[in-house]
Amino acid sequence: MSFIPLPPPIAEVTVPDCFSPSALGSSGDCRLRLVIASLRRSEWTERLASGPEAAVGTLLHRVLERAGRDVGASPDEIFRQEYERAVDEIRRDPRRAHFADLASTRSMAGWSRVKAWVLARASREGPPTSARGSPSGGPRPVAGAEVGLESITLRLRGNADRVRQLASRVFEVRDFKTGATLDERGEVKEEIALQLRAYGLMLLERRPGADVRLVVDDGEEREIPFDTEARRAAKDVLRRIARAMPRPGLARAEELATPGKSCWGCPIRHVCPAYLASAPGWWKQYPAGIERLSNDVWGTVLEVLGEGRVDVVLRDEARRRVRVDGLDPRHGITSRLVGNRIWFFGLEATGTTRGFDGTRFHPRSFHELPRDRLERRAWALHVFLNAEGSPGRTDVPAG
Ligand code: SF4
Repeated sequence: MSFIPLPPPIAEVTVPDCFSPSALGSSGDCRLRLVIASLRRSEWTERLASGPEAAVGTLLHRVLERAGRDVGASPDEIFRQEYERAVDEIRRDPRRAHFADLASTRSMAGWSRVKAWVLARASREGPPTSARGSPSGGPRPVAGAEVGLESITLRLRGNADRVRQLASRVFEVRDFKTGATLDERGEVKEEIALQLRAYGLMLLERRPGADVRLVVDDGEEREIPFDTEARRAAKDVLRRIARAMPRPGLARAEELATPGKSCWGCPIRHVCPAYLASAPGWWKQYPAGIERLSNDVWGTVLEVLGEGRVDVVLRDEARRRVRVDGLDPRHGITSRLVGNRIWFFGLEATGTTRGFDGTRFHPRSFHELPRDRLERRAWALHVFLNAEGSPGRTDVPAG
């Protein structure tokens, strides 16, 4: 087993000319997160791999895209082929191979529901409509799957999942989501609504004066208001974001990072100097104004219990004694690592994360593999060791 060293922290990034609408909401007020989320994977490879939820989302998008393109192909056959392709890709990625059997990451009923939803949407796809250009030299069509849209003034560029032309000047923009779309009030999350409105505004730049309908489809169709007032408010927000972003070119990561509520689930937090410096303080004193902290912890290994599937006790960076149970044998953690530094990103909390008075705290007890059906597996856990990754004692803190 070769251990993975923690990559060096980000020093500089290249700011692109436009940003990704799908990253607007999750990036919040952190410009570093928005910059990196807007770069192509080939331009920035150092990201934490996402879990099965994202893989199911990719599968869904591929099936729908092909269903809209391949005339006469059976949705079942497309689903089968794309599922096999996804499994093959995941199996070849050592960070994700443990969930290559994608269907088994959900209950049978849950998987049947997702599959039925995808097949129902795929069966309804009409004949293909090219989004790439008009052979007659007229305005470029704006209907089809993965339709590229951009706005130079708003500094936005991205692909809408599906645009349908319902009448000569009536369009529907549809975004498919496999994760949670509603907030605690039962309304579509603000960040998702902003993403859809960004697509709507970009579409209006291509088709001024058109009627645009925005739909989030998570198995149910949820319409996002896009009247004059909603457009104006969205434009204000997007202009504000664009103005706050630096000019295209090199920028220092520390000047762009804003550690806080956007750090939850951020795929570059393991290499973000601001997060690595701030998080241990948050573990000791849960920060006001942050709803959720990522279930991460790092420190020095004090004990490794068991063999194969092991439990680890560590002294974390906030000097707390912390326990991480049920670590998968794929990490190759053994008692030889006692005294070494170790980093965990993407654990599951074991037990409650709130005190009796309802206040949140960062747990001292985590797990990867569940003990029973009530616990969730930490599918997207990443473990890093100190630079060489070689077992070798460093100072073990007392206590
Ligand atoms: S970890 Fe936090 S501060 Fe760092 S890039 Fe992500 S959101 Fe920004």
